[in-house]
This record gives sequence, structure tokens and C-alpha cells, in this order.
Amino acid sequence: WKEKARKPDWLKREVPGGDKYTQIKSKLRELKLHTVCEEARCPNIGECWGGGEDHTATATIMLMGDTCTRGCRFCAVKTSKAPPPLDPNEPENTAKAVAAWGIDYVVLTSVDRDDLPDGGAAHIAATIRGLKEKTEGRLLVEALVPDFQGNEANVATIAQSGLDVFAHNVETVERTSPMVRDRRASWKQSIAVLQAAKAAGARITKTSIMLGCGEQPQEVLQAMQALRDAGVDVVTLGQYMRPTKRHMPVSEYVTPESFAAYQQAAEEMGFLYAASGPMVRSSYKAGEFFLTNVLR
Ligand code: SF4
Ligand code: SF4
Repeated sequence: WKEKARKPDWLKREVPGGDKYTQIKSKLRELKLHTVCEEARCPNIGECWGGGEDHTATATIMLMGDTCTRGCRFCAVKTSKAPPPLDPNEPENTAKAVAAWGIDYVVLTSVDRDDLPDGGAAHIAATIRGLKEKTEGRLLVEALVPDFQGNEANVATIAQSGLDVFAHNVETVERTSPMVRDRRASWKQSIAVLQAAKAAGARITKTSIMLGCGEQPQEVLQAMQALRDAGVDVVTLGQYMRPTKRHMPVSEYVTPESFAAYQQAAEEMGFLYAASGPMVRSSYKAGEFFLTNVLR
């Protein structure tokens, strides 16, 4: 498919600001943390970091380096078969820095590390445990994790680490998966990972789908139903945006009305929570929602 040349107006956002946003940004420099929010120049940064009406600030931290062993067609992260080794101090340093930062909800995410025997599961779990210990459980933690090539023991290591939300993204509908994701990922494997997490004790499971990757509306509805049938609690749907010309083109800019219709469909299917909109990202204002509705 060919990309439409012009972005529709609903995808244009103002530069973020606000007191809490500025405060977080300067603190970040001190703490030397890498956020996806900044590195991906996420358009929601003002809202997430600023918090909602009840001031529940959310941010997404990247673990295990900036180089991924996979190469998905929509993703701007660097790829290598042999990324640099893990920093053994990262779990402790991240936990300390995030605890000192004073946010309410953190999303930990990472590159895929197929080069490591456990895919980095122990490293992520150690970071989660550290965060919970240092904040005496106050900070809510979501981990957006790789598929660990379907290894259930690694999934259980994360699910049993004390986290609040286990997230793994299916990214797109089943038919378009092979065109969109790295060949080592698959729809079935990702569904199995979400099921394994629940079976291992994860309280809330969550996934995301990007629209504009060549899918048909009927396939989006089927995908949501399959996720619900697999016991997934939370789904988010957002617009795919092409990071550079070397990446997969956008097949379609889905209208805000269509996103709203998907949101309603998801609610009728019985998801605990669904967020669907052009600017929604997997971690979009996660703290605001979970803190006010589900976890407290
Ligand atoms: Fe990007 Fe994740 Fe795919 Fe790696 S596995 S290329 S970080 S989307
Ligand atoms: Fe950060 Fe996610 Fe919010 Fe974007 S949507 S600002 S990446 S927490």
C-alpha cells in the first residue's frame, strides 16, 4: 500500500508544557533515565507527565539498552544480532532513580533480547522488585515485555515479580502480523504469552494494536474478540505513524469516529478498560486510568 501524503488535522498536537512537565523534565536530566516518551517524541508527553485531574503522572522507561535483536517494520529502534551486554547495575539504578522521581505510575519497557538465555526476564523482574521495595509498594508498575519466544518460565518470572499490569503488544491483527512484525513474532505466540501471564498470576493483562497497518475493520473487531476470549483485560488502539521513509507506510489514517466506534465495541465485549483514539499509545495516560479506576 502507499502512504497518503498529508497527515489529517486530528494528528497535529501542540508542544507540551505545564509545571509538572517542566519539573519532571529537569529531574530526568539529574537522574539519567531514558524515557520512551522523550526519545520517541511522543505527542502525549504533556498529558502523561502532567498527570490528569488527580495528578497521576505516567512515564515509560526503556530498559536493556537501545539496540534490539529484532527488526519490526514499524519500529525505529536500532537492530543488531549481538547488542552490548546488559548493565548489571541497571535494575538497582533505575529503581533508585524512579523512586526519587516521584511519579505515580511507571511503564517499564525494553528492546527484545533474543541473544540472552532468559531474554532479560530476570533483569526486568529485578527492576520491578526494586521499584516496589523502594517505594513501599506505592508506585504502580506496568511492564511492557517481549514475547520471550513463547517461553512460559520467562513469562512467569515477570508475572510473579510483583508488577501491577503485565503488558505485551500484539501490535496488529493476525493476517497482517507477518508483514508488520519481525519474523520471530507471531499473533498466536503473543496471545499465548498473554494467557501464560494470566495463568502465572498476573492481575491485569494488557495489549495494544496499531491501526493503519493494512488491516480491515472486520479484522480489528475479530482481533479484539480473540483477545477478550484469551482473557486479556485491557486493550488500546492507536494510529500507526511511520517513523521514517525507510519504515512501513501508513495504509490509512483512521478517523476519530472509527476509533470511537472501536472503543464502544471493546467496551461491549467486556474489556475492563479500552482506550482507542488517533493519539493513543500503549502507555497513554495509563496511570490516570489505573490509579483512579482499578488498582486503588
Ligand atoms: Fe522495535 Fe520491539 Fe520490534 Fe524490537 S521487538 S524492533 S523494540 S517493536
Ligand atoms: Fe510516555 Fe507512553 Fe505517555 Fe507517550 S503515551 S508520553 S510514551 S507514557
